[in-house]
Amino acid sequence: MNIAIDGPAGAGKSSIAKLVAKKLLFVYIDTGAMYRTMALYCLKHGIETKDGAQVEGRCDEIDIKIAYEDGEQQIYLNGENVSSEIRSEQVGNQASVVASYPKVREKLVSLQRQMAASSDVIMDGRDIGTVVLPDAEVKIYLTASSAVRAGRRYKELQGKGIECDLKKIEEDIIVRDRQDMSRDVSPLRQAEDAVLLDSSDLSIEEVVDRIIAICKKSA
Ligand code: C5P
Repeated sequence: MNIAIDGPAGAGKSSIAKLVAKKLLFVYIDTGAMYRTMALYCLKHGIETKDGAQVEGRCDEIDIKIAYEDGEQQIYLNGENVSSEIRSEQVGNQASVVASYPKVREKLVSLQRQMAASSDVIMDGRDIGTVVLPDAEVKIYLTASSAVRAGRRYKELQGKGIECDLKKIEEDIIVRDRQDMSRDVSPLRQAEDAVLLDSSDLSIEEVVDRIIAICKKSA
């Protein structure tokens, strides 16, 4: 059984998917981490992310591997563990730029499908229910208002001791939503058979319980 969770940045997809995975004993796959890793490679090698031909031309140099250590997903870029490094706002914003290139998507979608073929997975991203796993038994489109999403991100960064500006975070979120929803290849949209969940006024536990109830219904 596969569960697809799509939705905009900061809707809580990864926290929620991790908890659902633990409860149902599924493997959690964070596909955003893969796009972030592609962006990190570009940043490290002075590749201009806005130059699609250049990014696509360098795709074959990039080896991405996923491993699970103590139950946590770890991501390796050409042999180096970059799981923490990819978490910055800068990498997230650049990930949204490189994610619009067909060759980048082909490479990562193929890796994602391989992973889903070998276990029960809960996978989160932008195109999981529409493109990567169109036959997933459960599809969730998780969203929340941009103000709520920015507020959550702000708290998370503050909690890590990172100085940030709430207004700038919300502006970045809005830009990222627009980029992700308007690109030609695999834009972010709710799959026709996905259940819409708005987490603006729900706690993480409430969203987790609703998803588990949906899974039980379709099992
Ligand atoms: O989910 P996260 O914020 O880590 O994703 C970073 C970026 O990667 C997104 O803004 C989006 O542009 C891209 N992405 C995507 N398709 C996915 C997952 C992420 O295009 N399945």
